[in-house]
Amino acid sequence: MTQLTTIIPDKLRLFIGDDVPQNYYEDTYVKHIKPVYAVALPVTHEEVQALVQFAIEEDLKILARGAGTGVAGAQVPIEGNELIIDLNQMNRILELDEETLTLSVEPGALVGDIHNYVESKGYFYPPDPASKHSTIGGNVATNAGGLRAVKYGTTRDYIREMTVVLPSGEEMTLGSKNIKSSSGYDMKDLFIGSEGTLGITTEIKLKLIPLPKASVSILLAFDTVQEATDATLAILTSGADPSGVELFERQALRYAEQNLGYPLKSQVGDAYLLMTLDGNDQSDLTVRAGLIEKIAKETALESHVLTKEEALKNWALRDNILLGLTVFTEFELLDEVVPINKFAELIEATKQMQEKHGLNVLNFGHAGDGNVHTLLMKDDLSEDEWTNRRAALLKDLYQKVADLGGLPSAEHGIGIVKKEYMESMTADVNLKYMRAIKQVFDPDNRLNPGKVF
Ligand SMILES: Cc1cc2nc3c(=O)[nH]c(=O)nc-3n(C[C@H](O)[C@H](O)[C@H](O)COP(=O)(O)OP(=O)(O)OC[C@H]3O[C@@H](n4cnc5c(N)ncnc54)[C@H](O)[C@@H]3O)c2cc1C
Repeated sequence: MTQLTTIIPDKLRLFIGDDVPQNYYEDTYVKHIKPVYAVALPVTHEEVQALVQFAIEEDLKILARGAGTGVAGAQVPIEGNELIIDLNQMNRILELDEETLTLSVEPGALVGDIHNYVESKGYFYPPDPASKHSTIGGNVATNAGGLRAVKYGTTRDYIREMTVVLPSGEEMTLGSKNIKSSSGYDMKDLFIGSEGTLGITTEIKLKLIPLPKASVSILLAFDTVQEATDATLAILTSGADPSGVELFERQALRYAEQNLGYPLKSQVGDAYLLMTLDGNDQSDLTVRAGLIEKIAKETALESHVLTKEEALKNWALRDNILLGLTVFTEFELLDEVVPINKFAELIEATKQMQEKHGLNVLNFGHAGDGNVHTLLMKDDLSEDEWTNRRAALLKDLYQKVADLGGLPSAEHGIGIVKKEYMESMTADVNLKYMRAIKQVFDPDNRLNPGKVF
Protein backbone atom coordinates (compact mmCIF):
# COMPACT_ATOMS: atom_id res chain seq x y z
CA MET A 1 0.00 0.00 0.00
CA THR A 2 1.25 3.52 -0.83
CA GLN A 3 2.33 5.63 2.13
CA LEU A 4 1.66 9.37 2.32
CA THR A 5 5.38 9.85 2.96
CA THR A 6 6.12 8.22 -0.39
CA ILE A 7 3.85 10.68 -2.21
CA ILE A 8 5.15 13.73 -0.28
CA PRO A 9 8.65 12.88 0.99
CA ASP A 10 9.36 16.48 2.01
CA LYS A 11 8.69 16.78 5.78
CA LEU A 12 7.82 20.47 5.44
CA ARG A 13 4.92 19.61 3.12
CA LEU A 14 3.27 16.82 5.09
CA PHE A 15 1.76 16.86 8.56
CA ILE A 16 0.15 13.70 9.93
CA GLY A 17 -2.19 13.39 12.94
CA ASP A 18 -0.93 15.31 15.99
CA ASP A 19 1.69 17.12 13.87
CA VAL A 20 -0.99 19.08 11.97
CA PRO A 21 -0.34 22.79 12.75
CA GLN A 22 -2.87 24.63 14.92
CA ASN A 23 -3.85 27.12 12.20
CA TYR A 24 -5.78 24.36 10.40
CA TYR A 25 -8.01 24.14 13.49
CA GLU A 26 -8.82 27.84 13.70
CA ASP A 27 -11.62 29.62 11.86
CA THR A 28 -13.44 32.87 12.58
CA TYR A 29 -16.80 31.49 11.52
CA VAL A 30 -16.70 27.83 12.59
CA LYS A 31 -15.84 26.63 16.07
CA HIS A 32 -14.96 23.08 17.28
CA ILE A 33 -13.13 21.86 14.19
CA LYS A 34 -12.63 18.08 14.22
CA PRO A 35 -9.14 16.45 14.07
CA VAL A 36 -7.93 15.73 10.53
CA TYR A 37 -6.03 12.71 9.23
CA ALA A 38 -3.25 14.74 7.63
CA VAL A 39 -2.44 17.93 5.76
CA ALA A 40 -0.47 17.58 2.51
CA LEU A 41 0.92 20.46 0.44
CA PRO A 42 1.47 19.17 -3.12
CA VAL A 43 3.55 21.03 -5.70
CA THR A 44 2.58 19.13 -8.86
CA HIS A 45 -0.59 17.81 -10.56
CA GLU A 46 0.81 14.32 -10.17
CA GLU A 47 1.11 14.73 -6.40
CA VAL A 48 -2.51 15.92 -6.22
CA GLN A 49 -3.63 12.88 -8.22
CA ALA A 50 -1.59 10.52 -6.03
CA LEU A 51 -3.08 12.08 -2.87
CA VAL A 52 -6.61 11.57 -4.22
CA GLN A 53 -5.72 7.98 -5.10
CA PHE A 54 -4.41 7.48 -1.55
CA ALA A 55 -7.67 8.86 -0.10
CA ILE A 56 -9.65 6.43 -2.28
CA GLU A 57 -7.56 3.47 -1.07
CA GLU A 58 -7.86 4.55 2.58
CA ASP A 59 -11.49 5.65 2.21
CA LEU A 60 -10.72 9.16 3.51
CA LYS A 61 -12.70 12.31 2.82
CA ILE A 62 -10.76 15.11 1.11
CA LEU A 63 -10.81 18.85 1.63
CA ALA A 64 -9.09 21.23 -0.82
CA ARG A 65 -7.81 24.40 0.77
CA GLY A 66 -6.38 27.67 -0.51
CA ALA A 67 -5.48 30.57 1.80
CA GLY A 68 -8.27 29.74 4.27
CA THR A 69 -9.87 33.21 3.98
CA GLY A 70 -13.29 31.72 3.17
CA VAL A 71 -16.10 33.14 5.30
CA ALA A 72 -18.72 30.40 4.88
CA GLY A 73 -16.91 27.50 6.58
CA ALA A 74 -16.41 25.67 3.25
CA GLN A 75 -12.69 25.11 3.84
CA VAL A 76 -13.19 23.69 7.32
CA PRO A 77 -13.22 19.94 8.08
CA ILE A 78 -16.50 18.85 9.65
CA GLU A 79 -16.42 15.06 9.36
CA GLY A 80 -13.21 14.29 11.27
CA ASN A 81 -10.33 12.26 9.77
CA GLU A 82 -10.23 14.23 6.48
CA LEU A 83 -7.15 14.54 4.30
CA ILE A 84 -6.59 18.25 3.68
CA ILE A 85 -4.93 19.02 0.35
CA ASP A 86 -3.53 22.52 0.77
CA LEU A 87 -2.74 24.08 -2.62
CA ASN A 88 -0.77 27.02 -1.22
CA GLN A 89 2.60 25.92 -2.55
CA MET A 90 1.35 25.41 -6.11
CA ASN A 91 1.54 29.17 -6.53
CA ARG A 92 3.48 29.86 -9.71
CA ILE A 93 2.50 32.24 -12.48
CA LEU A 94 3.23 29.95 -15.41
CA GLU A 95 2.79 31.83 -18.69
CA LEU A 96 1.53 35.12 -20.06
CA ASP A 97 0.24 34.55 -23.59
CA GLU A 98 -0.01 38.02 -25.11
CA GLU A 99 -1.49 36.71 -28.36
CA THR A 100 -4.61 35.21 -26.75
CA LEU A 101 -4.52 37.52 -23.68
CA THR A 102 -4.49 34.64 -21.23
CA LEU A 103 -2.45 34.05 -18.10
CA SER A 104 -1.77 30.49 -16.90
CA VAL A 105 -1.44 30.17 -13.14
CA GLU A 106 -1.31 27.52 -10.47
CA PRO A 107 -4.25 27.52 -8.00
CA GLY A 108 -2.23 28.76 -5.00
CA ALA A 109 -1.22 32.06 -6.67
CA LEU A 110 -2.58 34.97 -4.64
CA VAL A 111 -5.02 37.25 -6.44
CA GLY A 112 -3.10 40.35 -5.25
CA ASP A 113 0.12 38.95 -6.79
CA ILE A 114 -1.73 38.25 -10.04
CA HIS A 115 -2.95 41.88 -10.14
CA ASN A 116 0.56 43.22 -9.56
CA TYR A 117 2.10 40.93 -12.17
CA VAL A 118 -0.37 41.62 -15.00
CA GLU A 119 -0.59 45.37 -14.29
CA SER A 120 3.22 45.61 -14.54
CA LYS A 121 2.81 44.25 -18.11
CA GLY A 122 -0.03 46.63 -19.05
CA TYR A 123 -2.88 44.14 -18.59
CA PHE A 124 -5.85 43.94 -16.25
CA TYR A 125 -7.43 41.05 -14.31
CA PRO A 126 -10.56 42.83 -13.00
CA PRO A 127 -12.00 40.53 -10.25
CA ASP A 128 -10.89 42.23 -7.05
CA PRO A 129 -11.98 40.65 -3.74
CA ALA A 130 -11.03 42.75 -0.72
CA SER A 131 -9.02 39.69 0.43
CA LYS A 132 -6.00 40.22 -1.85
CA HIS A 133 -4.29 37.41 0.09
CA SER A 134 -6.82 34.78 -1.08
CA THR A 135 -5.77 32.23 -3.74
CA ILE A 136 -7.04 32.15 -7.29
CA GLY A 137 -8.10 28.50 -6.73
CA GLY A 138 -10.25 29.64 -3.78
CA ASN A 139 -11.61 32.52 -5.87
CA VAL A 140 -12.67 30.09 -8.61
CA ALA A 141 -14.22 27.70 -6.07
CA THR A 142 -16.34 30.50 -4.57
CA ASN A 143 -16.81 32.55 -7.77
CA ALA A 144 -15.36 35.50 -5.83
CA GLY A 145 -16.81 38.88 -6.68
CA GLY A 146 -15.31 41.94 -5.06
CA LEU A 147 -15.10 45.62 -5.77
CA ARG A 148 -15.33 45.86 -9.56
CA ALA A 149 -18.15 43.43 -10.38
CA VAL A 150 -20.63 46.15 -11.34
CA LYS A 151 -18.70 46.94 -14.52
CA TYR A 152 -16.49 43.88 -15.08
CA GLY A 153 -18.34 40.89 -13.60
CA THR A 154 -17.02 38.20 -11.24
CA THR A 155 -14.28 35.54 -11.32
CA ARG A 156 -16.48 33.33 -13.54
CA ASP A 157 -16.23 35.87 -16.38
CA TYR A 158 -12.42 35.61 -16.46
CA ILE A 159 -11.84 31.85 -16.51
CA ARG A 160 -10.98 30.56 -19.97
CA GLU A 161 -9.80 27.11 -18.99
CA MET A 162 -9.16 25.10 -15.86
CA THR A 163 -7.68 21.71 -15.04
CA VAL A 164 -9.21 19.70 -12.25
CA VAL A 165 -8.46 16.43 -10.48
CA LEU A 166 -11.74 14.60 -9.97
CA PRO A 167 -12.70 12.53 -6.91
CA SER A 168 -11.96 9.45 -9.07
CA GLY A 169 -8.33 10.59 -9.40
CA GLU A 170 -8.76 11.37 -13.13
CA GLU A 171 -7.60 14.73 -14.45
CA MET A 172 -9.86 16.76 -16.74
CA THR A 173 -9.48 20.07 -18.61
CA LEU A 174 -12.58 22.27 -18.74
CA GLY A 175 -13.07 25.14 -21.20
CA SER A 176 -10.34 26.20 -23.64
CA LYS A 177 -8.48 29.23 -24.95
CA ASN A 178 -11.30 29.75 -27.46
CA ILE A 179 -13.46 32.81 -26.83
CA LYS A 180 -16.61 31.08 -28.01
CA SER A 181 -17.99 27.58 -27.58
CA SER A 182 -21.16 25.88 -28.64
CA SER A 183 -19.60 22.47 -28.26
CA GLY A 184 -21.45 20.47 -25.67
CA TYR A 185 -22.23 21.17 -22.02
CA ASP A 186 -20.23 23.93 -20.35
CA MET A 187 -18.71 21.94 -17.49
CA LYS A 188 -16.30 24.74 -16.61
CA ASP A 189 -19.16 26.90 -15.39
CA LEU A 190 -20.44 24.00 -13.31
CA PHE A 191 -17.15 23.71 -11.44
CA ILE A 192 -16.77 27.47 -10.87
CA GLY A 193 -18.45 28.28 -7.56
CA SER A 194 -18.82 24.61 -6.56
CA GLU A 195 -16.84 25.20 -3.34
CA GLY A 196 -14.46 22.30 -3.81
CA THR A 197 -17.23 19.70 -3.91
CA LEU A 198 -16.70 18.47 -7.51
CA GLY A 199 -12.95 18.60 -8.16
CA ILE A 200 -9.60 20.04 -7.11
CA THR A 201 -8.37 22.79 -9.42
CA THR A 202 -4.70 22.37 -10.33
CA GLU A 203 -4.25 24.95 -13.11
CA ILE A 204 -6.19 27.93 -14.47
CA LYS A 205 -5.99 30.03 -17.61
CA LEU A 206 -7.31 33.52 -16.87
CA LYS A 207 -8.68 35.96 -19.41
CA LEU A 208 -6.97 39.37 -19.31
CA ILE A 209 -8.00 42.70 -20.79
CA PRO A 210 -5.91 45.82 -21.48
CA LEU A 211 -5.27 47.95 -18.39
CA PRO A 212 -7.45 51.10 -18.45
CA LYS A 213 -5.18 54.13 -18.87
CA ALA A 214 -6.92 56.46 -16.43
CA SER A 215 -9.09 56.28 -13.34
CA VAL A 216 -10.54 58.52 -10.69
CA SER A 217 -12.07 57.74 -7.30
CA ILE A 218 -14.87 59.73 -5.69
CA LEU A 219 -16.12 59.64 -2.11
CA LEU A 220 -19.62 60.86 -1.22
CA ALA A 221 -20.90 61.32 2.35
CA PHE A 222 -24.61 61.12 3.23
CA ASP A 223 -26.69 61.96 6.24
CA THR A 224 -28.44 58.57 6.23
CA VAL A 225 -27.92 55.14 4.70
CA GLN A 226 -31.26 55.56 2.92
CA GLU A 227 -29.95 58.64 1.07
CA ALA A 228 -26.83 56.71 0.09
CA THR A 229 -28.86 53.81 -1.34
CA ASP A 230 -31.14 56.22 -3.25
CA ALA A 231 -28.07 57.88 -4.75
CA THR A 232 -26.66 54.46 -5.76
CA LEU A 233 -29.49 53.79 -8.21
CA ALA A 234 -29.24 57.35 -9.57
CA ILE A 235 -25.49 56.81 -10.18
CA LEU A 236 -26.00 53.42 -11.83
CA THR A 237 -28.57 54.79 -14.25
CA SER A 238 -26.73 58.08 -14.94
CA GLY A 239 -24.33 56.77 -17.59
CA ALA A 240 -21.29 57.43 -15.34
CA ASP A 241 -20.39 53.72 -15.68
CA PRO A 242 -18.47 53.23 -12.42
CA SER A 243 -16.30 50.10 -12.08
CA GLY A 244 -17.28 49.82 -8.42
CA VAL A 245 -19.70 51.49 -6.05
CA GLU A 246 -19.08 50.54 -2.43
CA LEU A 247 -21.44 51.52 0.36
CA PHE A 248 -20.57 51.53 4.05
CA GLU A 249 -22.05 52.86 7.22
CA ARG A 250 -19.82 54.99 9.44
CA GLN A 251 -20.23 52.54 12.31
CA ALA A 252 -18.97 49.68 10.13
CA LEU A 253 -15.96 51.67 8.91
CA ARG A 254 -14.74 53.00 12.24
CA TYR A 255 -13.02 49.69 13.11
CA ALA A 256 -10.97 49.89 9.90
CA GLU A 257 -9.96 53.45 10.85
CA GLN A 258 -8.93 52.15 14.26
CA ASN A 259 -7.08 49.19 12.74
CA LEU A 260 -5.16 51.17 10.11
CA GLY A 261 -4.71 54.23 12.31
CA TYR A 262 -5.94 57.00 10.01
CA PRO A 263 -9.36 58.51 9.19
CA LEU A 264 -11.53 58.39 6.08
CA LYS A 265 -11.31 61.56 3.98
CA SER A 266 -14.84 62.56 5.08
CA GLN A 267 -15.95 62.55 8.70
CA VAL A 268 -19.52 63.79 8.30
CA GLY A 269 -22.73 61.79 7.96
CA ASP A 270 -23.70 58.20 8.69
CA ALA A 271 -23.12 56.56 5.30
CA TYR A 272 -20.68 56.74 2.38
CA LEU A 273 -20.35 55.75 -1.26
CA LEU A 274 -16.83 55.17 -2.56
CA MET A 275 -16.50 54.62 -6.29
CA THR A 276 -14.01 54.44 -9.13
CA LEU A 277 -14.50 55.44 -12.74
CA ASP A 278 -11.97 54.11 -15.24
CA GLY A 279 -11.35 54.38 -18.99
CA ASN A 280 -8.82 55.36 -21.61
CA ASP A 281 -9.86 58.92 -22.31
CA GLN A 282 -9.31 61.58 -19.64
CA SER A 283 -11.90 63.99 -21.05
CA ASP A 284 -14.55 61.25 -21.10
CA LEU A 285 -13.68 60.49 -17.47
CA THR A 286 -14.17 64.17 -16.55
CA VAL A 287 -17.62 64.19 -18.15
CA ARG A 288 -18.63 61.00 -16.29
CA ALA A 289 -17.29 62.35 -12.98
CA GLY A 290 -19.44 65.44 -13.63
CA LEU A 291 -22.56 63.23 -13.69
CA ILE A 292 -21.68 61.95 -10.20
CA GLU A 293 -21.00 65.48 -8.95
CA LYS A 294 -24.45 66.54 -10.17
CA ILE A 295 -26.16 63.74 -8.21
CA ALA A 296 -24.00 64.54 -5.18
CA LYS A 297 -25.04 68.20 -5.24
CA GLU A 298 -28.67 67.17 -4.83
CA THR A 299 -28.30 64.56 -2.09
CA ALA A 300 -24.83 64.32 -0.49
CA LEU A 301 -23.38 66.23 2.46
CA GLU A 302 -19.89 66.16 0.96
CA SER A 303 -18.29 65.04 -2.28
CA HIS A 304 -14.53 64.48 -2.75
CA VAL A 305 -12.69 63.70 -5.96
CA LEU A 306 -9.68 61.89 -4.48
CA THR A 307 -6.03 62.36 -5.40
CA LYS A 308 -4.10 59.17 -6.25
CA GLU A 309 -2.68 58.98 -2.73
CA GLU A 310 -6.07 59.65 -1.10
CA ALA A 311 -7.67 57.01 -3.33
CA LEU A 312 -5.15 54.38 -2.19
CA LYS A 313 -5.69 55.22 1.48
CA ASN A 314 -9.48 55.38 1.30
CA TRP A 315 -9.76 52.13 -0.70
CA ALA A 316 -7.42 50.47 1.82
CA LEU A 317 -9.88 51.48 4.54
CA ARG A 318 -12.72 49.95 2.57
CA ASP A 319 -10.72 46.72 2.04
CA ASN A 320 -10.04 46.63 5.79
CA ILE A 321 -13.66 46.79 7.00
CA LEU A 322 -13.99 43.05 7.57
CA LEU A 323 -10.55 42.68 9.16
CA GLY A 324 -11.22 45.67 11.44
CA LEU A 325 -14.53 44.19 12.56
CA THR A 326 -12.85 40.84 13.22
CA VAL A 327 -10.17 42.45 15.38
CA PHE A 328 -12.48 44.59 17.51
CA THR A 329 -15.98 43.05 17.61
CA GLU A 330 -18.16 39.93 17.47
CA PHE A 331 -20.60 39.76 14.60
CA GLU A 332 -22.29 37.59 11.99
CA LEU A 333 -21.47 38.43 8.38
CA LEU A 334 -24.08 37.94 5.64
CA ASP A 335 -23.68 38.10 1.87
CA GLU A 336 -27.16 38.50 0.42
CA VAL A 337 -27.83 39.90 -3.04
CA VAL A 338 -30.94 41.41 -4.62
CA PRO A 339 -31.66 42.97 -8.02
CA ILE A 340 -30.17 46.48 -7.96
CA ASN A 341 -33.56 48.20 -8.03
CA LYS A 342 -34.42 46.43 -4.74
CA PHE A 343 -31.20 47.31 -2.94
CA ALA A 344 -32.57 50.38 -1.11
CA GLU A 345 -35.64 48.41 0.01
CA LEU A 346 -33.47 45.63 1.42
CA ILE A 347 -31.28 48.04 3.41
CA GLU A 348 -34.37 49.81 4.74
CA ALA A 349 -35.83 46.43 5.79
CA THR A 350 -32.63 45.53 7.71
CA LYS A 351 -33.03 48.74 9.71
CA GLN A 352 -36.67 47.90 10.53
CA MET A 353 -35.58 44.42 11.65
CA GLN A 354 -32.99 46.02 13.92
CA GLU A 355 -35.83 47.74 15.80
CA LYS A 356 -38.12 44.71 15.75
CA HIS A 357 -35.54 42.23 17.08
CA GLY A 358 -33.47 44.49 19.36
CA LEU A 359 -30.21 43.61 17.62
CA ASN A 360 -27.84 46.16 16.10
CA VAL A 361 -27.57 45.84 12.29
CA LEU A 362 -24.91 47.50 10.11
CA ASN A 363 -24.41 47.27 6.37
CA PHE A 364 -21.52 47.53 3.96
CA GLY A 365 -21.02 46.04 0.56
CA HIS A 366 -21.01 46.21 -3.16
CA ALA A 367 -23.97 48.52 -3.67
CA GLY A 368 -23.33 48.72 -7.40
CA ASP A 369 -24.24 45.07 -7.93
CA GLY A 370 -26.93 44.69 -5.28
CA ASN A 371 -24.72 42.67 -2.91
CA VAL A 372 -24.85 43.75 0.71
CA HIS A 373 -22.84 42.40 3.62
CA THR A 374 -25.29 42.87 6.45
CA LEU A 375 -23.63 42.62 9.86
CA LEU A 376 -25.49 41.43 12.93
CA MET A 377 -23.58 42.92 15.87
CA LYS A 378 -23.38 40.97 19.13
CA ASP A 379 -22.49 44.07 21.19
CA ASP A 380 -23.20 43.32 24.86
CA LEU A 381 -26.02 40.80 24.34
CA SER A 382 -25.87 37.64 26.47
CA GLU A 383 -25.25 34.34 24.61
CA ASP A 384 -28.95 33.43 24.93
CA GLU A 385 -30.19 36.82 23.71
CA TRP A 386 -27.72 36.73 20.83
CA THR A 387 -28.72 33.20 19.76
CA ASN A 388 -32.48 33.82 19.93
CA ARG A 389 -32.60 37.32 18.46
CA ARG A 390 -30.15 36.42 15.72
CA ALA A 391 -32.15 33.34 14.66
CA ALA A 392 -35.41 35.32 14.54
CA LEU A 393 -33.85 38.17 12.59
CA LEU A 394 -32.17 35.84 10.09
CA LYS A 395 -35.49 34.12 9.40
CA ASP A 396 -37.12 37.47 8.62
CA LEU A 397 -34.17 38.72 6.64
CA TYR A 398 -33.83 35.74 4.32
CA GLN A 399 -37.60 35.76 3.78
CA LYS A 400 -37.33 39.41 2.71
CA VAL A 401 -34.39 38.60 0.41
CA ALA A 402 -36.47 35.82 -1.20
CA ASP A 403 -39.48 38.15 -1.57
CA LEU A 404 -37.27 40.68 -3.36
CA GLY A 405 -36.05 37.99 -5.79
CA GLY A 406 -32.61 37.75 -4.16
CA LEU A 407 -30.19 34.98 -3.20
CA PRO A 408 -28.57 33.94 0.10
CA SER A 409 -24.99 34.35 -1.16
CA ALA A 410 -23.52 36.55 -3.89
CA GLU A 411 -19.81 35.79 -3.58
CA HIS A 412 -18.85 34.09 -0.31
CA GLY A 413 -20.52 30.76 -0.99
CA ILE A 414 -22.83 28.59 1.08
CA GLY A 415 -20.26 26.40 2.86
CA ILE A 416 -21.88 25.20 6.05
CA VAL A 417 -22.98 28.51 7.56
CA LYS A 418 -25.73 29.23 5.00
CA LYS A 419 -26.87 25.70 4.14
CA GLU A 420 -30.18 26.08 5.95
CA TYR A 421 -31.07 29.22 3.97
CA MET A 422 -29.84 27.77 0.68
CA GLU A 423 -32.25 24.85 1.20
CA SER A 424 -35.21 27.04 2.08
CA MET A 425 -34.59 29.51 -0.78
CA THR A 426 -33.91 27.00 -3.57
CA ALA A 427 -36.62 25.10 -5.43
CA ASP A 428 -36.74 21.36 -4.67
CA VAL A 429 -36.27 20.49 -8.33
CA ASN A 430 -33.06 22.60 -8.48
CA LEU A 431 -31.70 20.95 -5.34
CA LYS A 432 -32.59 17.51 -6.73
CA TYR A 433 -30.49 18.09 -9.87
CA MET A 434 -27.61 19.68 -7.96
CA ARG A 435 -27.45 16.58 -5.75
CA ALA A 436 -27.61 14.37 -8.84
CA ILE A 437 -24.64 16.23 -10.37
CA LYS A 438 -22.63 15.75 -7.17
CA GLN A 439 -23.48 12.03 -7.32
CA VAL A 440 -22.20 11.76 -10.92
CA PHE A 441 -18.79 13.28 -10.15
CA ASP A 442 -18.41 12.08 -6.58
CA PRO A 443 -20.50 8.93 -5.93
CA ASP A 444 -18.63 8.23 -2.66
CA ASN A 445 -19.22 11.78 -1.39
CA ARG A 446 -15.48 12.07 -0.84
CA LEU A 447 -14.80 15.69 -1.77
CA ASN A 448 -15.68 18.37 0.79
CA PRO A 449 -18.70 16.44 2.13
CA GLY A 450 -21.49 18.24 3.97
CA LYS A 451 -20.97 21.57 2.21
CA VAL A 452 -23.43 23.61 0.09
CA PHE A 453 -26.43 21.25 0.46
C1 LIG B 1 -10.99 40.31 5.00
C2 LIG B 1 -11.73 39.50 3.97
C3 LIG B 1 -12.28 40.15 2.87
C4 LIG B 1 -12.98 39.42 1.91
N1 LIG B 1 -13.49 40.08 0.82
C5 LIG B 1 -14.09 39.39 -0.16
C6 LIG B 1 -14.61 40.06 -1.32
O1 LIG B 1 -14.55 41.29 -1.45
N2 LIG B 1 -15.21 39.31 -2.27
C7 LIG B 1 -15.30 37.95 -2.16
O2 LIG B 1 -15.84 37.32 -3.06
N3 LIG B 1 -14.85 37.30 -1.07
C8 LIG B 1 -14.23 37.96 -0.08
N4 LIG B 1 -13.76 37.31 1.03
C9 LIG B 1 -13.96 35.85 1.15
C10 LIG B 1 -12.75 34.96 0.67
O3 LIG B 1 -11.56 35.68 0.63
C11 LIG B 1 -13.08 34.34 -0.67
O4 LIG B 1 -14.15 33.43 -0.52
C12 LIG B 1 -11.90 33.63 -1.36
O5 LIG B 1 -12.29 33.31 -2.68
C13 LIG B 1 -11.43 32.37 -0.66
O6 LIG B 1 -10.17 32.02 -1.18
P1 LIG B 1 -9.13 31.16 -0.32
O7 LIG B 1 -7.91 30.94 -1.15
O8 LIG B 1 -8.91 31.76 1.00
O9 LIG B 1 -9.94 29.78 -0.20
P2 LIG B 1 -10.26 28.91 1.09
O10 LIG B 1 -10.89 29.75 2.13
O11 LIG B 1 -9.06 28.12 1.49
O12 LIG B 1 -11.35 27.93 0.49
C14 LIG B 1 -12.61 28.40 0.10
C15 LIG B 1 -13.33 27.31 -0.72
O13 LIG B 1 -12.59 27.07 -1.92
C16 LIG B 1 -12.26 25.68 -2.01
N5 LIG B 1 -10.95 25.62 -2.67
C17 LIG B 1 -9.83 26.33 -2.39
N6 LIG B 1 -8.85 26.03 -3.26
C18 LIG B 1 -9.37 25.12 -4.10
C19 LIG B 1 -8.85 24.40 -5.24
N7 LIG B 1 -7.61 24.58 -5.70
N8 LIG B 1 -9.67 23.51 -5.87
C20 LIG B 1 -10.94 23.31 -5.44
N9 LIG B 1 -11.48 23.95 -4.39
C21 LIG B 1 -10.69 24.84 -3.75
C22 LIG B 1 -12.27 25.17 -0.58
O14 LIG B 1 -12.51 23.77 -0.53
C23 LIG B 1 -13.42 25.96 -0.02
O15 LIG B 1 -14.63 25.36 -0.41
C24 LIG B 1 -13.11 38.01 2.03
C25 LIG B 1 -12.55 37.37 3.15
C26 LIG B 1 -11.87 38.09 4.10
C27 LIG B 1 -11.28 37.37 5.28
